[in-house]
Amino acid sequence: MKEPFTVAIDGPAAAGKGTISRAIAAHFEFAHLDTGLLYRAVGSKFLTGADPIKAAHCLSPDTFDDKSLRGSEVTQAASKVATIPEVRAALLDFQRAFARRAGGAVLDGRDIATVVVPQSEVQLFITASPEVRARRRWSEMCERGDELPYDQVLKEVRLRDTRDTDRTTAPLKPGIQACIIDTTEMSVEDAVAIAISKVEAKR
Ligand code: C5P
Repeated sequence: MKEPFTVAIDGPAAAGKGTISRAIAAHFEFAHLDTGLLYRAVGSKFLTGADPIKAAHCLSPDTFDDKSLRGSEVTQAASKVATIPEVRAALLDFQRAFARRAGGAVLDGRDIATVVVPQSEVQLFITASPEVRARRRWSEMCERGDELPYDQVLKEVRLRDTRDTDRTTAPLKPGIQACIIDTTEMSVEDAVAIAISKVEAKR
């Protein structure tokens, strides 16, 4: 495929966006960008005392593999720096260029369909109840050996939901054309199959 084809996947934390995005990218041989990593990388620099706006202007994709970006402190810092309009603006060009590359791209985040690529060919909004999302995040953390009580994970998920939804710039919400997939009572396999069928229908 030579022309751009963007799949925008938005939704709250731990709704299954990452799994679904990676599955779509693998199935259709599209490039994949987890845009949360950009905000995590800025959040991580902010924690070491850097100016978040300056940090957003000089990010290097080489640092996105760093496992420490998944830690709880960086996660909260990411959602704090994500409320700064200048940080968001600094990250736009990179995301847009990635989205419109030849061969197709999947981007997952909070504002892909609403701000980054409103013309995206497919828009999916993946959601689930806060309790189920916190349970999934808690299980992932336990597997990594990151022991945090479930109640605290739920509290942090809710805190991020509020920050992401209530911010003035690019708040979390479905795009106008978005198909909403609620994964609360869905297996991973079913959610992936539905998402792939939505992309297939638009190709
Ligand atoms: O998706 P992930 O949980 O890694 O995102 C971390 C934080 O980055 C989110 O809580 C959100 O505040 C911010 N973010 C955002 N816009 C995106 C992706 C992530 O504001 N497109």
